This record gives sequence, structure tokens and C-alpha cells, in this order.
Amino acid sequence: MSEITLGILGGGQLGSMLSVAAKKLSVKSIILSDDQDAPAQNFCDEFIFSKYDDKNKIYEFSKKVDYITYEFENIPYETLNELNKFKTVFPKPSVNRLIQHRLAEKDFVNKLNLRTTRYVYIENEKDLETLADFLPGILKTTTMGYDGKGQYPIQSIEQISSLNIDFSKKYILEKLVKLKKEISVIITRFGNNKYEIYEPIENTHENQILKYSKIPAEISETLFNQSKDWAIQIAEELKYIGTLCVEFFIDRNDNLYINEIAPRVHNSGHLTINAYNISQFENHVRAVCALEQIRLKKISNAEMINLIGNQITPYRQNHKLNDNQFLFDYLKKEIKEKRKMGHLTTLK
Ligand code: ADP
Ligand code: MG
Repeated sequence: MSEITLGILGGGQLGSMLSVAAKKLSVKSIILSDDQDAPAQNFCDEFIFSKYDDKNKIYEFSKKVDYITYEFENIPYETLNELNKFKTVFPKPSVNRLIQHRLAEKDFVNKLNLRTTRYVYIENEKDLETLADFLPGILKTTTMGYDGKGQYPIQSIEQISSLNIDFSKKYILEKLVKLKKEISVIITRFGNNKYEIYEPIENTHENQILKYSKIPAEISETLFNQSKDWAIQIAEELKYIGTLCVEFFIDRNDNLYINEIAPRVHNSGHLTINAYNISQFENHVRAVCALEQIRLKKISNAEMINLIGNQITPYRQNHKLNDNQFLFDYLKKEIKEKRKMGHLTTLK
């Protein structure tokens, strides 16, 4: 029996699945979340409801745990940095600060000579007027965006005034890529040149929200290897500890672009729970708690579908599953449109 306690910031489905993985390894999990209804309280060993800037509660939390991690990148840097004074926080707070800012993230990737979409920093409305050659494009908030939130597709300069863009925020404008496919690569790094990497996953989005993921991705061997190489380069350069996901675009000429890096477990990797001997969640817990690294083995091809909004309802009403199907209900109290409520993985 391990005596390890892992503290997790954030109590959504990713925190839930991290807790489940921790339990499997006999690691105790304590979740701190600013959402009183956080679904992860159904899965963790202990739940603390607290704002992320409540110094007393954060300190109490740090005393109870051995290691600290987080389920999503939008945790304030100050919180992670403060916690890191008491207990080891992985991924390192500085890594999260870099990646949670879209401009810093893209600059970092370009410094490694890896390709991103063309982008430009937008500080105010006037900056947009001279940028016709970035259109059609997508305006994205530099921070706090996820599932397409904080994004404005823009076709023409004339259209901008009708979009009611909140210019108290900062943005980047990205040129739209004519997408052939999207893929992601998930890697768990344990230390210098020590990592476990999953094969590329093919992803389909609807309204900028992930809808389907599958392995194998239908891509060339070149792209298969290139995307894995780029993910390894990023993880090594960041001296990353834990699970990281790189999202890629592939255009119609089979050029690979890095879309974004997620310094955490990722929705596209949910199928690893059933398709591999060790899931992305278990690998994350192993890496951040300094547990043994075990060679990854793929068990099966797989497909995952996100159940968004009321798509969960039929599954909650005694829907029959086949032997090769695995349902995960995140047990969120309220069904909301565009809200990820659960997912279904089918082994192929
Ligand atoms: P989020 O942080 O919300 O995941 P992303 O930047 O990954 O934001 O965008 C979400 C989705 O929107 C992408 O997976 C892709 O389908 C689409 N998208 C975003 N940027 C572009 C782009 N420059 N060209 C084409 N599609 C894009
Ligand atoms: Mg994304």
C-alpha cells in the first residue's frame, strides 16, 4: 500500500478520472475546486470547496498532500506558485504560465522551429483593421479559452463591428487553416528522455468542441512519426513532468501544424482508459507522484464519442451497452447545452 496523497486542483471530469486512476494505484486523492457542485467529489477521497485565491484554504490543502497537480490550465499562476513553496507542483507552474497564454505558447513553439498557424497579437480594435491577409481567421482570447469559448471566426474586416467583441481582453488573430484532419499526441514524461507516448489520435470537432476521437488515426507514416517527434521535442524542452497533449492540424497538402499544447490530460485521450494497459490518467499520476514507469502497450483500436448536453439522457435511462463499449457518466448535476456530460468508448 502506498501512503501517497495527491492533491488535484480542479474538480471536473478530468479531475474525476485522475482520482479514479489514483485509487487504482492506492494513491489517495484530495480535490480542491471553486465549484461547489464539482462532479469530481463523487470520485475523490476528499473534497475541498475553495476559491483558488483563498490563501488559508490553499495552505490547509497543501498540508494534507504529498504532491500537487491540476486538471486544467486556467488555474491562476499565483496559486500554483504559492503551493509550489510547500509541496512539489507538477507540471511546474512556470510551464503552465507559458502555455496558458496563447501568444507565449505559439512563440515558444516557433522558437523550436515547429510550425504553427500564422498569428498576430491584437491589443485593440484598431489592430484588426490592417490585417486582411489573416482573414478568414479566428480571433481567440489570449487566456482562459476552452471548447471554443472566447473565439470569434472572422470572414471580413467589415464584419468585425457587428461581432460585439470585448476589447478589454487581449487576443490573437489566427489565419484559418483549410483542415484535412485534426490529430493529437499524448505523452507522459517522467524525466530526461524518459517518457511514454501514445499513438496519434484522430479528432473530429463540431462547433469547435471535440466530438469524436479514434485510433488509429488515418494519416501517413510521415505524419505519424512527425507528430510524435514534435510532441517529444516539446515535452523535453519544457522539462515536463506528467501527461501533456499536443493538438495538431493537418492541411490539405499534408502539412502538420501545432494548434495548441494542453499541459494536462486531454479529452482526446479518454480512449486510452480502455485501449491501453495504462491510461493517460494513470500515467499522469505515476509521473507526478514519482511512481514506476511501465512500458505502454496498446490493447485495442478504439473510438470515443463525447456525450454533450442531453445526449447523455438515453444512456442514463438504462441504455444497453455491448461488451466492447464503456460508458463514463461524469455525474454533472445539471445538463447544459454544449456541456460535456460523459463519453462512450468503443473498442474496435
Ligand atoms: P480551444 O482552446 O477552445 O480548444 P482551439 O484553438 O483548439 O481552442 O480551437 C478549437 C477548434 O477550432 C480546433 O480544434 C479547430 O477545429 C478549430 N480551429 C481553431 N483554430 C483554427 C484555425 N486557425 N484554422 C482552422 N480551424 C481552427
Ligand atoms: Mg483545442
